[in-house]
Order: sequence, then C-alpha cells, then structure tokens
Amino acid sequence: PEVSAMEVLESQDISYEDIGGLDNQIQDIIECVELPLIKPESFERVGVEPPKGVLLHGPPGTGKTMMAKAVAHRTDATFIRVVGSELVQKYIGEGSRLVREVFDMARKKAPSIIFIDELDAIAATRLSDTNGADREVQRTLMQLLAEMDGFENRGDIRIIAATNRVDILDPAIIRPGRFDRMVEVPMPDTESRSLILRIHSRGLSLALDVDFDKLATLTENTSGADLHALTTEAGMFAVRNDRDSVTMADFMAAIDKVLKPRQPQVNEHP
Ligand code: ATP
Repeated sequence: PEVSAMEVLESQDISYEDIGGLDNQIQDIIECVELPLIKPESFERVGVEPPKGVLLHGPPGTGKTMMAKAVAHRTDATFIRVVGSELVQKYIGEGSRLVREVFDMARKKAPSIIFIDELDAIAATRLSDTNGADREVQRTLMQLLAEMDGFENRGDIRIIAATNRVDILDPAIIRPGRFDRMVEVPMPDTESRSLILRIHSRGLSLALDVDFDKLATLTENTSGADLHALTTEAGMFAVRNDRDSVTMADFMAAIDKVLKPRQPQVNEHP
C-alpha cells in the first residue's frame, strides 16, 4: 500500500536566528550535523567520525523541531520527518517497512537530515510482556537500529531524534554509533523568554510601552510554544479593539487568557 508516514521537505524557512536562547545547543548541532554535511573533508583529514545520531531531549514546545529544521535550512539538506508514534500506531504492521523507506529516501535525496520525533514511542525500554503491539514496536526499533548500524557514516546523512522522555529510552538506542550525542533542550529561563517574545513579536506593530523583560518575569514555566501562542493572542486583543499597535495591556490580557487557566502560579510576581 502507498502509505507514507514521512514528511519530505526540500527547503526550510527556519533559521538559527528564529530560535531564542539555545545558543549552546545550536553550537552542538552545528558541530554534529552542520559541519559533517558541509565540510566532510575536515573530519576525513583529521580521521575523526562525526556522531551518527544526535538526540534532542527536553519538554514539549521548547524548539527541538525548530533546531532540526534550521540546520536543514542552513545546509540545504532534504529534511525527512517521521513521528515515532505514527510509525507504530497509524500504520499498524508497517513500522519497520516505513523505517527502511525513510533511510532509502534519505540516501536517494542526500544530503539529508532524518528527523525522528517522539523517539520514545519506538525506543522505550522493553516491557516484559510482549503483546502484538509491543512486538510491532520492537520490530520497528530493530529496523531503526539495523539501519543506523548499516549505513556508512560519510556525513551526507545525519539523524536527529527528539524525545520528551529520555528517562524511558532503551539503552541500546544511545550506544556508541547510534544516538551517542545527547543535547538537552530545557525550558527557557527568563532571559531566553524575553528573546523568544521578541522573536515572535518581530512582525507586530508594537506600542512603546511593551516591556519584554517584564513580560519574561511574568511568564515563568512557559515554553517557546506557549510564548508564541501568547504573542499571537496579544495581537488578537489589539485587533479586537481595533487598534494599530499591540500594547503592554494586550500582552497582560493574553497572559490571563492563555496562561492563567493552566498555571495559577503565573502571576505570583507581578
Ligand atoms: P515537541 O516536543 O512538542 O515536538 P519541540 O521542542 O519540537 O516540541 P518546536 O516544534 O520546535 O518544539 O516548537 C514549537 C513552536 O514553539 C515553534 O514553531 C515556535 O513557534 C515556538 N518555539 C519553541 N521554542 C522556541 C524557541 N526556543 N525560540 C523561538 N520559538 C520557539
């Protein structure tokens, strides 16, 4: 059957400048993914092999997918995205075949970046009882490991995986030669939140009273994705009130609407 759980994109419009507050993580990605793709000879000259797989781990909505897309953009690599849970749930019985197809596609369209989101859905520590669904997950994982072990590490295919649950991963997946470079992508701190708010407000017409540093202190425990939603909502308040620009009050109202219902502690430090 013509099922496709993979998304193949030949060009990306996200760049490193669109990502707030992950400078060290971006440096890691440049070293492990970007340089092997654009300067494989530097690695050959020195005789060092770049890591085959990079594992991005951290809470949802913190920029893991963005980083993978940004490095694809920078290197002009084909970007192939698959979602772990879809491999084993959406196309039951097709998981291992899909994994094989993803690697075939990556070879055909090289240079490429394979991005596996929700890696934990296919690479969690094995459960003791193996019902049908678990066996399917295991077969899919086995295929992934076989593909990773099998492909020649020439730098023109890079594999990035992401997970929110690094704690439950099967140790086999992080062995040397597999996802042996781990990059933690944490929730943004106050300074990063201010940067992220600025990034998402770039296209907005802003009133002079908007204070991003202040907003950053009022948005503890929020991810980049939350801050994006917040910025959009602030813009919506300005539209609803038929104003030309977005004010600090619009952002405050957006905090109440978007974050408060979920996080009662958000306005602890007004
Ligand atoms: P998940 O684990 O849920 O897949 P993720 O870590 O891959 O999440 P992304 O898809 O990269 O999260 O981020 C979702 C959206 O949140 C982005 O499209 C962007 O708008 C915003 N975002 C997240 N992190 C950042 C960041 N560090 N800087 C700017 N925007 C961010």
